[in-house]
Amino acid sequence: MGILYIIATPIGNLEDVSFRAIRLLGEVDLVLCEDTRVTARLLARYRLKTPVLSYHQHTDEKKLDLVLGMLARGKNLALVSDAGTPGISDPGGQLVAAARERFGEEVKVESVPGPSAVTAALSISGIPTDRFLFLGFLPHKKGRQTMLVKIAVSEFPVVVYESKHRILKLLDELEALNQQIGKFLSAGPEKPAGAWAALPRDQLSKIKPVTSVVVCRELSKMHETVYRGEPKAIKAMIQASHNEQKGEFVVIIGR
Ligand code: SAM
Repeated sequence: MGILYIIATPIGNLEDVSFRAIRLLGEVDLVLCEDTRVTARLLARYRLKTPVLSYHQHTDEKKLDLVLGMLARGKNLALVSDAGTPGISDPGGQLVAAARERFGEEVKVESVPGPSAVTAALSISGIPTDRFLFLGFLPHKKGRQTMLVKIAVSEFPVVVYESKHRILKLLDELEALNQQIGKFLSAGPEKPAGAWAALPRDQLSKIKPVTSVVVCRELSKMHETVYRGEPKAIKAMIQASHNEQKGEFVVIIGR
């Protein structure tokens, strides 16, 4: 039985990769990756010639069989994602689950730790991070309001991933959340509506305004920027920046 290595790769700067990751990416029989063009850039940077195969959330059963068959025949495989740690808000975990299901304890799955946008952002946020709640990407439509309510009642800082398409929308929503919270706090939640109505009464007393937000954009890349403050002020700063909403974002909501 081969070994399946789950290898963390850079979230921007191609130098952010461990010696072990590079050695294994050169030694394995095949690198499974989300987008072969993205992984090809990393392999080329380190002059590695290992074959790659695309493996992502839409990969069909036939390809899964092929991959699991390779493991069964003793081939060592590496799984990487486009950025960071496979399985953290990307499809990496599905292959691990499928291998476990097929081979049980027989298959060895090894982690090769490294960057992740969540830990990179937390590390420079200045927000106490002994405990935090990671919500990944918020749902686009259904369930989004419920997640925003979870943010409002969380006793720990909350981390979310956001794309350039929705970052300003999220900041607007956090601002709106603040206004609702302000009303609750001044008048008392007489008749909470919508997603708030589902909260037990004791949770309503835990809600706190969203005043300390940290938005990390393009971590480890040329245009890395960190914005701190209230949602409205951050929105204005992002709108005023010359590259506006371009890039990738991690949002930390302090509590
Ligand atoms: N597996 C990755 C990890 O370990 O962080 C996350 C993959 S998820 C599909 C991609 C999201 O991560 C982006 O939309 C963004 O929210 C965040 N992200 C990835 N790279 C980033 C970077 N360099 N700066 C800021 N956020 C980043």
